[in-house]
Amino acid sequence: MALTLFGVGSTVCAAGAVLKPDLTDTARQVQLIGAGGTALCGLAVWLLPPWRWVVHVGAMISIVMLGLLMGSSNAIGATPFFFLWPLVHLAYFARRAVVATGFAVLTTTVTVAVAVNPYATNRADTIIGTVLSVGLMTGLVMVMTARERELQAALARAADTDALTGVLNRRGLAPLVEALVARASAGDGTLAVVMVDLDHFKRFNDRHGHLVGDEALIRLAGALTAAARDGDHVARVGGEEFTVALPGADAGAAQAYADDVMRRLRDEDIAPDLRLTVSAGIATHGPDADTVHLLMRAADAALYRAKHAGRDRAVVALRDAA
Ligand code: GH3
Ligand code: MG
Ligand code: MG
Repeated sequence: MALTLFGVGSTVCAAGAVLKPDLTDTARQVQLIGAGGTALCGLAVWLLPPWRWVVHVGAMISIVMLGLLMGSSNAIGATPFFFLWPLVHLAYFARRAVVATGFAVLTTTVTVAVAVNPYATNRADTIIGTVLSVGLMTGLVMVMTARERELQAALARAADTDALTGVLNRRGLAPLVEALVARASAGDGTLAVVMVDLDHFKRFNDRHGHLVGDEALIRLAGALTAAARDGDHVARVGGEEFTVALPGADAGAAQAYADDVMRRLRDEDIAPDLRLTVSAGIATHGPDADTVHLLMRAADAALYRAKHAGRDRAVVALRDAA
């Protein structure tokens, strides 16, 4: 994008120097210098690593060079419009402080250029018109950019969140567990995962209806979240299945977490005639469970054992001999 702007800018500048018949010699020379300077900025953007500050410095240099054209040309013509290019680019890609700096450079440059240009007429009009128009367009792009970023963030949040319970969904949990497993594999702390599944939930739904069933899911998500500490991640990964990642926890801490969840759930009075219970499978990161797949498989097997042992309990995964 920036490369295109510098390329087109340089070409337009050079073409103007060659094609405008009524330019003074000085104005023509300055315009050629402007074309060369812009091309150099483009070259820097092209050859240097993609550092943002290179483009931002290039934009500032462009503003000053446009000022040079404006200050030396006997035919200012469309030059003020070209200030939109670097400023609008900054408004979209740069931080507010950089945009403010660009605007300050613009105001100073235009004021000095128009003041010193011996051919200029309607000086105040030109300065105010250029600074106001470019400033307003820059502001507008900043507002639109901020809205776009807010929308992007809201969309990303929605895509990672379970609509019913408000906790993470499978998509939101996956990269977090990936990162936690990588950290644990690098020897940086322990990691436990707890898979939680509501017991006889089909029966619960059949007896109380799906709306009460939904309420039960919301209460379970609430209990899982309330029992969690900062840094833990709670996700609904299936219909009535949740997975919780507990960084820094060992099997004992994960068991205490599951007990806390079950105790909180017992206190809920969603349907007095039918107790809402969960089964949980706990697995911890170790040599036999050092990938997301192995860790989840171990927790799933433990959950299966909890179901078969009579439900309403948490079971810790058996440790494979390494
Ligand atoms: P088990 O103790 O072995 O886990 O038995 P279960 O009945 O809980 O398990 P099963 O897999 O047979 O049934 C899961 C039920 O969860 C069936 C389905 O109607 C219910 N369910 C899944 N998603 C939702 C949901 O979003 N809302 C409600 N209300 N129910 C759901
Ligand atoms: Mg179930
Ligand atoms: Mg299930």
